[in-house]
Amino acid sequence: MSELLEVKHLTKRFGDSSVLEDINITVKKGEVVVILGPSGCGKSTLLRCINALEDIQGGEILIDGENIVRSPKTSDIMSKVGMVFQSYDLFPHLNVIDNITLAPRKVQKRPKAEAEEEARELLKRVGLSGREKSLPRELSGGQKQRVAIVRALIMHPELLLFDEVTAALDPEMVREVLEVILDLAKQGRTMMIVTHEMQFAKAIADRVIMIDSGTIVEEAPPEQFFTAPASERAKQFLSTFTYENVR
Ligand code: ADP
Ligand code: MG
Repeated sequence: MSELLEVKHLTKRFGDSSVLEDINITVKKGEVVVILGPSGCGKSTLLRCINALEDIQGGEILIDGENIVRSPKTSDIMSKVGMVFQSYDLFPHLNVIDNITLAPRKVQKRPKAEAEEEARELLKRVGLSGREKSLPRELSGGQKQRVAIVRALIMHPELLLFDEVTAALDPEMVREVLEVILDLAKQGRTMMIVTHEMQFAKAIADRVIMIDSGTIVEEAPPEQFFTAPASERAKQFLSTFTYENVR
């Protein structure tokens, strides 16, 4: 497997406060990496740096060997990365199919008919056939989040970033969204996933990375991380999830 993403000695500061310090991560094509850590430890900031939504103060981020900051072809490189957020951020006045096909048509200049055909195929795969003309407000949270996933997929990213995509959902809708992501893993997609769903993390991860206070405190295969974490910090963190593990 070749390396799709390399984060080397990444440092991110907001003003004087250092949020990420000397972060090193490699993700190979086809790998699923789950990022865990307490609230405020820097998980979202890390994904935002990888998606070039934040400037960085040190180190480098390479996608397919190309530096996302210094390359003159930044937009080409960035089309290789897709991100799905907790707040789906769909355009409220556009129906499902228009929300999905806006970027492929405007950014990638793809013909309307071709983009809509792919959108329909993807909607079918996430169980939303027939909802093409619905407005976001006519959908449940779980349905909106599946539309947001399709909107990322239609751009054909090589790396998909998920930032707590089920955190705002009612419990009964969490599963339908996680199943879509599990399906993407089965298809061999390369993904970095921030989640607090520990059973899901265990099931989907090839590797778990735990961050605390802006540094990586542990990196391990899921079997090891969840049963015999090496660091005290990971043990302590996992002990706060006993309820879910029992359930
Ligand atoms: P997590 O996703 O792990 O909960 P974040 O990456 O959102 O954590 O935040 C990490 C730290 O960076 C927090 O202390 C947060 O307050 C701070 N932070 C995040 N975004 C900004 C910003 N735009 N300006 C200043 N501080 C920020
Ligand atoms: Mg976050």
